[in-house]
Amino acid sequence: MKKILLLAAVIFVAASCAAVPDQEISSEETMSSEEVEVYGEQPRGNIPPDNTPGGSSMLLNDLEFSESEISGIIFMREEEKLARDVYLQLADLLGMNIFTNIAGSEDTHMGAVLSLIEMAGQEDPARAKGNGEFLDQDLQALYDSLVVRGGESLVEALLVGAAIEEIDILDLQQYLAETDNSSITAVYQNLLNGSINHLNAFVRIYERRTGEEYQPQYLTEEVFQALLSGSSSRGGGGARQDRSAQPAGKGKAQ
Ligand code: ZN
Ligand code: ZN
Repeated sequence: MKKILLLAAVIFVAASCAAVPDQEISSEETMSSEEVEVYGEQPRGNIPPDNTPGGSSMLLNDLEFSESEISGIIFMREEEKLARDVYLQLADLLGMNIFTNIAGSEDTHMGAVLSLIEMAGQEDPARAKGNGEFLDQDLQALYDSLVVRGGESLVEALLVGAAIEEIDILDLQQYLAETDNSSITAVYQNLLNGSINHLNAFVRIYERRTGEEYQPQYLTEEVFQALLSGSSSRGGGGARQDRSAQPAGKGKAQ
């Protein structure tokens, strides 16, 4: 009986990853309908096929979560919450649709990670936490500082959004490198694709508003270029080809 329940949980997570594409990102104030369409597209390269390797042998392996996998999903649950809560706060302050729309996507991401936490039989760190409240004190401090910075101006808010997505990408890439659990991998890949789309949206609006080229805040220039040229709305090369690579921090960004 227990095995059947666990199996159902695995199938649920797999189904929700496959069936819930990232919500469209749009802002009628700043984006043309053409751009809205483009932003709605997922980069396809990294998405696992709908029928990821299945069968009971995979499922049984995936029901065992290592300690580092557990700490990873617990952290990512709150990191997705940080993104959602900052965007909700900035939407309130600035009234821009892009923040409301991406907050909805982050809420979906939180739900996907919660499914993993439940599968692992762990307690949800976000349970009984209100908006802007975090168990992890580093994330709490990050939230507090980002909301203050983002409230300064629309341009700062766009930079805050891009910073959050860059941090998310770095952490997801690191956690992906540390796990071979395909339930976790499927969720993280979906979150990663979402973050790349969100970063792309923030960067495009920032560049349109300021007329300046966006400078990556946590990613290396090289990784930033590769991610955005691989996504659907930024063609390869172009104006950025001549820029030299800049040194940047590695590893877990907080
Ligand atoms: Zn996310
Ligand atoms: Zn995001």
